[in-house]
Amino acid sequence: MTSRQALTLYVNELFSSIQGESTRAGLPCGFIRLAGCNLRCAWCDTSHAFEDGRDMTVAEILAAVKQWGLPLVEITGGEPLAQPGCVSLARALLAAGYTTLVETNGSLPVAVLPEKVIRILDIKCPGSGMNDRMHWPNVEALTARDEVKFVLAHRADYDYAMETMRRYSLADRGIAALLSPVPNRLDAQQLAAWMLEDSVSARLQLQLHKHIWPPDMRGV
Ligand code: SF4
Repeated sequence: MTSRQALTLYVNELFSSIQGESTRAGLPCGFIRLAGCNLRCAWCDTSHAFEDGRDMTVAEILAAVKQWGLPLVEITGGEPLAQPGCVSLARALLAAGYTTLVETNGSLPVAVLPEKVIRILDIKCPGSGMNDRMHWPNVEALTARDEVKFVLAHRADYDYAMETMRRYSLADRGIAALLSPVPNRLDAQQLAAWMLEDSVSARLQLQLHKHIWPPDMRGV
């Protein structure tokens, strides 16, 4: 990796909003959405991040983040780990005192990230069409600081999530699990019923920002 790759990122959008997902849902949060993704999930809601972007240095991104005046920042995508500069950016955010979240699609090693980063690891279920791309050592490497997200399109995805939670002992390891229904594909009430029936140790996650603003609105 050249030093230029480490210090320059291809950025799709920068915005402050209300965190819509994770255990920090509801908190004001700054978002750095990096462009490009190595997967193509069937239900992807951020395909606008596949191509469009602009080059920014870590210093330029930090200057934008500072203007928001928020202690919580998330690097997301696209797939942030597809860009080598993501690691330098995470380091710089931590050094500047931000609580730093990185949401990743799980297909690339998360071990490259600094220890203090809070990793939100998507575990792709069969309904995404991308479950065979998962880098499973990522799940073993998680700590109680990290979180796991399953996006569910149907009952088979729910069963897959339950089995994966058991196989990796997520609850025993204190790792928060988030179950998020695909809008217009899986009814939240149905998911709630399954979770109550099984006494699941996980959170039902609705994308809060899509309830505050129109579901297809960008930059929120
Ligand atoms: S990993 Fe995320 S950005 Fe990439 S295709 Fe899947 S949902 Fe879309």
